[in-house]
Parts: sequence; structure tokens; C-alpha cells
Amino acid sequence: MTDALATREHTVGPAASPLLVARNVRKRYGSVEVLKGISLTVNPGEVMCLLGPSGSGKSTFLRCINHLERIDGGRISVGGDLIGYTQRQDRIFEMNPRQVARQRRGIGMVFQRFNLFPHMTALENISVAPVGVKKVPKQQASKRGMDLLERVGLAHLAKAYPAQLSGGQQQRVAIARALAMDPQLLLFDEPTSALDPELVGDVLDVMRTLASDGMTMIVVTHEIGFARSAADNVVFMDGGVVVESGAPASVLDNPQNPRTIAFLNSVM
Ligand code: ADP
Ligand code: MG
Repeated sequence: MTDALATREHTVGPAASPLLVARNVRKRYGSVEVLKGISLTVNPGEVMCLLGPSGSGKSTFLRCINHLERIDGGRISVGGDLIGYTQRQDRIFEMNPRQVARQRRGIGMVFQRFNLFPHMTALENISVAPVGVKKVPKQQASKRGMDLLERVGLAHLAKAYPAQLSGGQQQRVAIARALAMDPQLLLFDEPTSALDPELVGDVLDVMRTLASDGMTMIVVTHEIGFARSAADNVVFMDGGVVVESGAPASVLDNPQNPRTIAFLNSVM
């Protein structure tokens, strides 16, 4: 009986394939190597928080995932597809711009600065890409946009322009805008660093909700409380390498590397 159960447990479905795999990713600017062989894995539905001092290469790594930079070595794949390359038989080709654009659509990014279009309302900011890029009918995109505004708690401000919104509200619109493209992966680069302290909580709450709804996310943040409560894995980067990684309870509460310990002391 026990054996049969044990066997069943081990054969229930195949292990999910990772959503993002980075292997030995290298990136240099001129003669300066900024990423010195980054390897990490994010499974579907997981949240990874990337921590590390300024200049450690966190933004560069996110930018490499999202085609904003080209890597000089290693490989990154999302959903099983190489970033920037296609594979036919056993040969690898660089993607053409159309293929790059299609791949980028599946990866949402939320920046420190919200980059909303100032001449468009909150709702228009959210629906413009689905209509323009994905050819979703306007009415359908607006309806979905309203649902997304509801989800980030801003349905009542659909007609407001960015200048009429607080920084935290603008960032929540930016998150809704990223979600409108139905990304399989959402990247956040210090989404709350530019906000007044009293506005940070609402944005983190929205991110926590996304995380518990199963969104796969990589979040660069100095918000240790968020990392502790929302992350499945925490990665500490310094000087272009992964210094330490693991569950929040081990990296944040029982760090082993002196550089991790020094960093945590400086932000907590
Ligand atoms: P982080 O996000 O961890 O603060 P970055 O990825 O922004 O780190 O930067 C890593 C290093 O790369 C820094 O030393 C930075 O000065 C350098 N760097 C970033 N972008 C460029 C660029 N476009 N040209 C030259 N150097 C850059
Ligand atoms: Mg950065």
C-alpha cells in the first residue's frame, strides 16, 4: 500500500521544465566584463529576487533577457526558446527583427521609472500595445484594460493622465500595461526605488498578488521584506557573479558569504 502510493507520487506528471534558464551568461562593455558567467534557473510560477550592490550587473542581466543588450557568451532561454537565436536542425541562426519583436512580447518589463506615455490616459497606456502590436480589437483591449486596472486597484482612475497620478499609481499602471501583453515572464528592475516611501507598499502588494496568482517574475529589489515574503529563490549578485543563492530563509536569514552578509547589513 505504502509502496503503491509512493510510486504514484513519483509518477504524477513530468517535472515542469524551467521557464528561464541562464547558463554562463557573459556581457562586456568595452574592456569591462560586467557579467562574468551568470547561471540561474526560474521555474514556471516562481518568483526570483535578485539582490546586490549598485553596479553588480543586475540591470544588465535583466536587459539581456529582454533583448535590450546582447550577450557575449553563454545562453539564455525562455520557455525553451533561446533568446535572440533560432535553431533549425542542429544549426543556430540569429533572429531577425520580427522574430526578436515577437519574442520580446512574451517578456514584460517594469522599470524604476514608469515610462508611461504622458499624452495618454491610464487606460490608453494599457491598451495601446495590444491594439497596435497584437491587433486586438479596440473595444476588447479597453475591456481587458479595465479588468487589469481593477486588478491593480485603479479602475477609478482609468481616465486620468500620468501627471495626475502619484508615482505609486503610475507604477501600478505600468504593471497593468506589462500584463496586458500576457507575458510568460515579468521582469522588474527596482520598481519601487523611485517612489516616496509611503507609496511603496501599494506597489509591493500588487506584486505579491501577481506572485500568488502564479506569475513568473524576476524582481531586482532592495526590499528585503518583499523578498522574504514573496520570493521562492533569492540570488545575491556582486561584481558580475552570483555569490549566493537559495531559499529566502537561507540567503536572507542565514547568509554564508561575507559579501552577502555585508550587503544585508547595509540595507536591513
Ligand atoms: P546594477 O543594476 O546591479 O546596479 P548595472 O547592470 O546597471 O548594475 O551595471 C553593471 C556595470 O556595468 C556598472 O559598472 C555599470 O557602470 C556598467 N554599465 C552598465 N551599462 C553600461 C553601458 N551601457 N555602457 C558601459 N557600462 C555600462
Ligand atoms: Mg540597476
